[in-house]
Amino acid sequence: MATLEIRDLHVSVEAENGPREILKGVDLTVKQGETHAIMGPNGSGKSTLAYSLAGHPKYTVTGGEVLLDGEDVLAMSVDERARAGVFLAMQYPVEVPGVSVSNFLRTAATAVRGEAPKLRLWVKEVKEAMAALQMDPAFAERNVNEGFSGGEKKRHEILQLELLRPKIAILDETDSGLDVDALRVVSEGINRVRSTGEVGTLLVTHYTRILRYIKPDHVHVFAAGRIVESGGAELADKLENEGYESYVKGGA
Ligand code: ADP
Ligand code: MG
Ligand code: MG
Repeated sequence: MATLEIRDLHVSVEAENGPREILKGVDLTVKQGETHAIMGPNGSGKSTLAYSLAGHPKYTVTGGEVLLDGEDVLAMSVDERARAGVFLAMQYPVEVPGVSVSNFLRTAATAVRGEAPKLRLWVKEVKEAMAALQMDPAFAERNVNEGFSGGEKKRHEILQLELLRPKIAILDETDSGLDVDALRVVSEGINRVRSTGEVGTLLVTHYTRILRYIKPDHVHVFAAGRIVESGGAELADKLENEGYESYVKGGA
């Protein structure tokens, strides 16, 4: 079983007036099969954590370590991370002009699996995954993220998750911009992947509503660049009732 270990992670971004520390010592262990929710107020650094794990060049790790089964994730290129089994659903996915969803997914699957999936099997796999997410088959021929609605972007992310089957999935604000029906379909997709027991999921979210569909095993409150409290699913209920006020006041 794969284990992702984040130890005392410090991350800075280059701001106008010099580097600014955003992550101030994050400690977290996620095992394959577990679902962790990271919850916190806007600006607390949740996306910074997600991007840092994915190797986004804008974020500089100034201290700490990230290990996947003891391997140094921070020393890996973005591609190597994907191949090692770390998946990040982008909070604001970029457009990839001229590349269809179907080609994009096959390229990604080739990178992750180490060989190109057999075309006929692949087409079937994509079709089934799309049907499960209630996606129009024509979607496969559209260019990646070009004119995608919020809901289409999220479905596309979960489609990637279903097809790439990472060991560790980092889902940043997967619930944002989804209406209730889309949220249910997307959550079912996440739960399907989760039910294999083969993915450790880090569900990063500001709102508790997605947790009505996806019951986390662990909930962590994130404030001012670090985890300030950890608990079980009941912690999400507390946050739903009380908000983040008590954490913000004492924090930053
Ligand atoms: P969250 O996802 O919890 O809302 P973010 O990680 O997006 O928080 O942002 C945390 C803090 O870091 C915010 O104050 C934000 O303005 C700042 N920040 C994030 N990325 C950058 C960047 N590239 N340049 C400057 N500041 C940034
Ligand atoms: Mg620490
Ligand atoms: Mg964010």
